[in-house]
Amino acid sequence: MRSMRFLLTILLILMTFLPLWGGGQFVVSVLRDEAIEERMSELQDQATILRNHIVSTGYINASGVASVDAEISMMTTSYNCRIEVIDSSLRIIKDTYIIDKSKINISEIVLRCMNGENQIEYDREQNVVELTMGISNRDNSGLLGILYISAETQDVESLVESVKQKQAVFDVLVLVVAIGAALYFSHLLIKPLKKLEQSIDLITTDNLQEPIPVQGYYEAEQIADAFNEMMERIQKLEDSRQEFVSNVSHELKTPITSMKVLADSLLMQEGIPEEMYKEFLTDIVTEIDRENDIITALLALVKMDKSADALNITQKNINDIVETVLKRLRPIAAKKNIELVFESFRPVVADVDEVKFSMVVNNLVENAIKYNVLDGWVHITLNADHKYFYLKVSDSGIGIPEEVQDKVFDRFYRVDKARARETGGTGLGLAITRSAVLLHRGSIKVYSKEEEGTTFTVRIPLNYIDADRRNAE
Ligand code: ADP
Repeated sequence: MRSMRFLLTILLILMTFLPLWGGGQFVVSVLRDEAIEERMSELQDQATILRNHIVSTGYINASGVASVDAEISMMTTSYNCRIEVIDSSLRIIKDTYIIDKSKINISEIVLRCMNGENQIEYDREQNVVELTMGISNRDNSGLLGILYISAETQDVESLVESVKQKQAVFDVLVLVVAIGAALYFSHLLIKPLKKLEQSIDLITTDNLQEPIPVQGYYEAEQIADAFNEMMERIQKLEDSRQEFVSNVSHELKTPITSMKVLADSLLMQEGIPEEMYKEFLTDIVTEIDRENDIITALLALVKMDKSADALNITQKNINDIVETVLKRLRPIAAKKNIELVFESFRPVVADVDEVKFSMVVNNLVENAIKYNVLDGWVHITLNADHKYFYLKVSDSGIGIPEEVQDKVFDRFYRVDKARARETGGTGLGLAITRSAVLLHRGSIKVYSKEEEGTTFTVRIPLNYIDADRRNAE
């Protein structure tokens, strides 16, 4: 029942067969009505002629005029009817069926005719036409009698029956043709969809890039287009996933390679002085720390990539969070003699996940210190309106070239790869930061000029509305 082809077939059959069948029924009924109508008018004409003859021959009083009797019997045979001539006292003076002769006819139709109403009626159930006609003198001086005719219409019925039979045969033929045509056309209509389904079935992970053929009628083409677009998006996701995996492997391998080189050179030389051992081991520890940093950052990123369920939202004083982070970072800034200034336009209370938001502030300010010059400055400002709060971190550092500004949020992206080893960057900080901001339904932007400085702005809604509530609204 849920098959489109089945429904289409039924619809096509009904659409072709029903009008034909209905039309046939209509034609048959019109045919019967017309034939009866014709019979009635013929009977009426003949009855008028007979009545005139009866009047002119004085048949009623003379009882038995041969020419009238002959006419009556001729009419009886040609119209398969019964004719009664009734006098003014309702006595039947002539009955072609003989049986009722001399009896009194008080049937309703005769009585109505007595009152001056000539009648002609068709009894559909009995298949008879009944006709009464008053017989009066030419000067219309009172009723002499009544002419009553009852004609069977069996011949009309048999004609209608035979037409109906032929029509039934025709109907069956039409039905067979309609079923055949409906099956064929529904197959034709469904074919492009079937083809689409087959092409989709053939898609495996190996041929993701190959678009499925776009052909068939307009709607099928649109589905194929939409599907191809979706596959392109999946392909992009797959590409970025693969790139991420290869980046992760590379990043994790680098410290291990360095450690191996350091350890190997210690092993290969004999009688190495203790200071050199210490130096090499210090380098090894640095590499271990780096490996640790990368793994920690990766774990943080994986956590961020999870759904918003992982968020632990509470109402927090944002000023306090920023102050706490700055307190931790001040000693690092002091090493480069960098001035850290926090300016808050108003106290801000907002719905945030404290741990993740602290990480946002920490990453931005730490970068502002890391990529700064000696004796530079970092300004942090906090502001809010009725809907959002805004955190701005500006520095007087080295800046980011314009062409790579939108790449800095990519995972493992670093502007200066060589410098990264000195600064200890993993290239994951800003990716984590952006994920955390997005989880808070906020946005982050970067403005920077090389050799002048960089500003990161973060905008986060004061009230966190979870996805269920958002969808409900
Ligand atoms: P990293 O661990 O290398 O700092 P991030 O994801 O935090 O990784 O930053 C990515 C890159 O963006 C950095 O390597 C650096 O080149 C650049 N960058 C980030 N913040 C700043 C800044 N405040 N000034 C200049 N460059 C920056």
